[in-house]
Amino acid sequence: MKYEVLKGGENPLSCDVALIDTDNYLYVFEAGNKEEIVTKLNEINKEKIIIISHFHLDHIANLNKLNYSKLYVGDNTYRYTKTGQIVSADIYLDNLHLFKIPSCHAKGSIGLEYDEYAFIGDALAPTNKNGEYVYNAQLLKQEIDTFKKLKAKYFVSSHNMEEYKTKDEVIDYLESIYSRREKSNPYISAKI
Ligand SMILES: [Zn+2]
Repeated sequence: MKYEVLKGGENPLSCDVALIDTDNYLYVFEAGNKEEIVTKLNEINKEKIIIISHFHLDHIANLNKLNYSKLYVGDNTYRYTKTGQIVSADIYLDNLHLFKIPSCHAKGSIGLEYDEYAFIGDALAPTNKNGEYVYNAQLLKQEIDTFKKLKAKYFVSSHNMEEYKTKDEVIDYLESIYSRREKSNPYISAKI
């Protein structure tokens, strides 16, 4: 693997964190919500650039305890972090590509493409709407189109960064959900 993973976990709920080491910077995808992640990251004596996929607490909570020189977030995440550069269009840094994800899971999500990998946060997960897990059909279509355009072969989700799905698996998975849409309903239930 060309990236290192700091594991999150369940209690408190924390996503994993990916570290991508380049000549000049250590790129950190997600901040997580676990004390051990803070300790480990702050021990690393290299300039850090943090990228956060979306605003949920298990992805951003560590942020104010971390040392870093630059932060990239989506527009909706900025409402919570109040700091960082908003990714409003594609951004290219070193060999990295930051992009917006029209995510069914969280508004203002962003992803990171690096080498053969696309880090997509929780974009494969549905959202909770009035107690029901659903995908918004229109957003899902946009999400599929966004993912189809990526060059990465492997897609990495933030709650299990040590494994990945192939791009085809991800597209097939999302298209099978999209195929269950009904004409009169803007939402697709995540339950089969
Ligand atoms: Zn989330």
